[in-house]
Amino acid sequence: MENLTNPHIKELMPRVAASSRSGPGIYLDCNELPYPPSPKVVQAIVEAIPRLNRYPDTLGGSLRKALANYAGVAEQKVIIGNGSDDLIELIIKVFIAPGEEVVILDPTFPIYALSTRVMDGHPVIFRRMTDFGIDFQYIIENITSTTKAIFIANPNNPTGSLVARQDLMHLIENVDCLVVIDECYYEFSQETIADLVDVYENLLILRSFSKSFGLAGLRLGYSIANKNIIDYLYRATQIYPINSLALVAGAAALGDWEYISSKVRQVCQERDLLREKMEQMGFIVSPSTANFLFVNTKPLGITSTNLSRILREQNIWVRDFGGKLGLDNYYFRTAIGTPAENQKLQAALNELLNNHA
Ligand SMILES: *Cc1c(COP(=O)(O)O)cnc(C)c1O
Repeated sequence: MENLTNPHIKELMPRVAASSRSGPGIYLDCNELPYPPSPKVVQAIVEAIPRLNRYPDTLGGSLRKALANYAGVAEQKVIIGNGSDDLIELIIKVFIAPGEEVVILDPTFPIYALSTRVMDGHPVIFRRMTDFGIDFQYIIENITSTTKAIFIANPNNPTGSLVARQDLMHLIENVDCLVVIDECYYEFSQETIADLVDVYENLLILRSFSKSFGLAGLRLGYSIANKNIIDYLYRATQIYPINSLALVAGAAALGDWEYISSKVRQVCQERDLLREKMEQMGFIVSPSTANFLFVNTKPLGITSTNLSRILREQNIWVRDFGGKLGLDNYYFRTAIGTPAENQKLQAALNELLNNHA
């Protein structure tokens, strides 16, 4: 058995189950939408159940058309995946040979590095600047000839920071590798460069139904790129990566835009309110164009690990980044919940600061 396992797989960490979130908790640790899917999505899923004896459409059927329409591109420029995580791995499978480099800008979404290792590629970590912006000139001057791809989450997770379209264009024009822009929080940020997939042959956009569409449990994501890239990606994907319930639910979610846009608007309003409140408490809160806030606890003299643990005792879940991804011991991320949940978080933080000051 030991001799049979690929050496690069042996180097990966064992997968452990995340603590189980059950009961009436306040779950702000995964950047999910705090609202259930729209009733139209639920209805579409229920109506599709009797046909589960049949295989799903390959290539995503009518959802692919709906997404092309939503993104303003031709259908052949869209590929659907079992969550955008699935597409991250597919992109690496198709474009990165063993030992080739993938540039990753920490602190960022850890799946880029994980998927690179799973595919026996070599993640090369560049650091973001102290304000979590990107030194594009440094990247252009320091990537090597074996760099095959750069992954940039925009807005970035966990920092919430957004880089400008002009800067991304400058990067894409000055490197030979694939540039993957992860726009998983697009509906919150309203910023996209998907319109440039025909201008740049090395540009790939990632999107997801997990955050703004409130369908994290369903696993649905998509990518937008030129027809060539999408053709190669489809050659290497599974025949039926998307289950039929996800296909109908995705189409129904896009069809109920009013529901999503009102939820997104509410979350953004709450985000700006919560940021102001937390700054008044003395936290340093990074500007965010997404549905979460990245918070520095250092001015208050409490580590993020301690803060997260105390919140957890009240069943309030945030994501601790203390000591992770090259950060010091003072960072956590909190998603934006419902107004009631955000108020409970504020109250818990106020109490915590009074007791620990
Ligand atoms: C949450 C997240 C994803 C994962 O999306 P799925 O579609 O659920 O796989 C991808 N990229 C970033 C930056 C994320 O924060």
